[in-house]
Amino acid sequence: MAERSRSGLARGNSGARRDSLAGAGGAGVDSARAPLRRRLWPRLGGRDLAIDLGTANTLVFARGEGIVVSEPSVVAIDSQSGAVHAVGEDAQGMIGRTPATITAVRPLRHGVIADFEVTEQMLRHFIERAQGSRRAHSRVIICAPSGITDVEQRALMEACLAAGARSVHLIEESLAAAIGAGLPIGEPRASLVVDVGGGTSEVAVISLGGIVVSRSVRMGGYDLDESVAAWLRGTHGLAIGETTAERVKLEVGGVAPDDTDAMSPVRGRDPVSGLPREVQVTSEELRRALEGPVAEITAAVKATLEETPPELAADISEQGLLLAGGGALLRGFAARLEEETKVPVALADDPLTCVALGAGQALDEIDLLERTTAGGVSRTQRRR
Ligand code: ADP
Ligand code: MG
Repeated sequence: MAERSRSGLARGNSGARRDSLAGAGGAGVDSARAPLRRRLWPRLGGRDLAIDLGTANTLVFARGEGIVVSEPSVVAIDSQSGAVHAVGEDAQGMIGRTPATITAVRPLRHGVIADFEVTEQMLRHFIERAQGSRRAHSRVIICAPSGITDVEQRALMEACLAAGARSVHLIEESLAAAIGAGLPIGEPRASLVVDVGGGTSEVAVISLGGIVVSRSVRMGGYDLDESVAAWLRGTHGLAIGETTAERVKLEVGGVAPDDTDAMSPVRGRDPVSGLPREVQVTSEELRRALEGPVAEITAAVKATLEETPPELAADISEQGLLLAGGGALLRGFAARLEEETKVPVALADDPLTCVALGAGQALDEIDLLERTTAGGVSRTQRRR
């Protein structure tokens, strides 16, 4: 949970050297000496892709194009044959509604791979879609939460290779979010990034392109949904599914100081009679239901600030923090964070895409990443 320093991530490659590389133009860097094969490869090969593999949503950015895939991280599988029925949006619609033979699963939990094979199948599907008609293997940069272990990192890279990538490099999500939001991460000045995703909230202080202090809590949008479901069960005696819980959160959910006064009808099942029933739930109730998980996330931000070296903390109090991830869109959350931390909070222009956009920008340096071995693995290396 506390400060981390891990060697496997392509920290410096994507961040610190970003400025010095600007304008070097990737493949052109050592073109005079590079073997012909290497110079031609990027053009003959598949598209270079950046992947934000989130617990809730997966986004794929194709170099030179932009975001080409943005779908929920869900796969519907035939539980007998193991065959994939649907992926993404189509599979999401099946959650809680599948017949006994099909299960709709989210292969990631709290930012890490929970089901390797399903993750691989999902990645393969999204990579193939992003590649379009090109058959060749892509070079991939994939985002990783800063809190994951070496084993989890390895699994992430292996899943990409197994899904057909030619080579894989990791970039930390917070770093990607900062790049995507245009923060000056290469400078000796602190940037604080808070990313509230589906299953995790990541807090990171970045300076000189590297992560100085980071913290990750297993608490995100889905945990808020669970709190909504628990509230309805406890207070109204109504059992609801996760899709309904999320819908209610999006419609009328919020947290103080937000003071929305709205109401939403919720349909579910009465666990006592076993029959369907409808109740009205108010924003005021949801503020109470969501208070616990929200307090946990803000506590993680405060704890990170407390661990931040004084010079960097001074930068942050002046420049504020960047809020990213879909969970950041919860009504009142930005204001709440500002109130509790006394630091100005800026919501990313598009909190749901900023990690993918940043990783996409990092693709411009993939030629450099390919020449250094740090944080990367290729199909040939894997065979050894
Ligand atoms: P991940 O990176 O883990 O895939 P995302 O950044 O895509 O997660 O965020 C997904 C989460 O954001 C979901 O839990 C979703 O309910 C939540 N979310 C999306 N939009 C909103 C919104 N407007 N208000 C509150 N929560 C939201
Ligand atoms: Mg995310």
